[in-house]
Amino acid sequence: MVKNLQKSFGYRTVAEGEKTFLVKSVFEEVARRYDLMNDLMSFGVHRLWKHELIKMIRPRENMHLLDLAGGTGDIACRFLKTTQEFKGCSATVVDINHAMILQGESRAIDQGIINGLTWIVADGATLPFKDQSFDTCTISFGLRNFTYIEESLKEILRILKPGGFFFCLEFSKVSSKIFDKLYRFYSFEVIPRIGEMVANNKSAYQYLVESIDRFYTQDELKSLMTTTGYQNVAYQNLSGGVAAIHSGQKLT
Ligand code: SAM
Repeated sequence: MVKNLQKSFGYRTVAEGEKTFLVKSVFEEVARRYDLMNDLMSFGVHRLWKHELIKMIRPRENMHLLDLAGGTGDIACRFLKTTQEFKGCSATVVDINHAMILQGESRAIDQGIINGLTWIVADGATLPFKDQSFDTCTISFGLRNFTYIEESLKEILRILKPGGFFFCLEFSKVSSKIFDKLYRFYSFEVIPRIGEMVANNKSAYQYLVESIDRFYTQDELKSLMTTTGYQNVAYQNLSGGVAAIHSGQKLT
């Protein structure tokens, strides 16, 4: 049985429209410090997880990637760097938050990444693309924040080409009980304080840890993807389940 989390904002239950508004506000407030906070909170480990995600995508020639909830474009830029030697690759970043995209655009320019990269402000539940537009879609640490998770998963199926893959990198559930205790202590006692010190925003990082706690288990997300219509759904745990990468394919 899969939980209906569409109206949870951290530990609070809110109306759908309010959730979208609150999530937008959180990322507007932290956009400027977002990348720095990722490095600090995860001791840089998010880079290894994202490296793993890019490996799983198996980049090849003429590949069109949609990075949904792409934020500051970390996945899209990594993809374009990896595919430099291939011809015809492109990445489209979609995010509901203009402030995150603005940060991403200047970050990409700083890295010299301009060609093949498009930025679009849109909600994952209503993607402004024709059917079968992309070879692969990624969401990295985004799905948990969506108001309409099931609708967005269906939208991804719609815009994927037959045979295309969806990969979801997201915080998940730790399997070892001892590690889980330490992890929960770090999450609830330390992360909001780092958020307060570095991003001057304790509540945004309180939301982060609560939303992780409320999110699906690995098997719940696998089951949701399967009932939505994805085939060959599987997941790989990272760092003992702190995060996981789910993958699913659109066959026809
Ligand atoms: N993918 C980036 C990464 O891995 O660094 C950013 C992840 S950030 C934690 C989550 C992003 O999801 C934010 O930029 C937020 O604006 C975006 N987001 C939240 N709800 C969304 C929605 N319904 N549609 C599109 N993007 C959304």
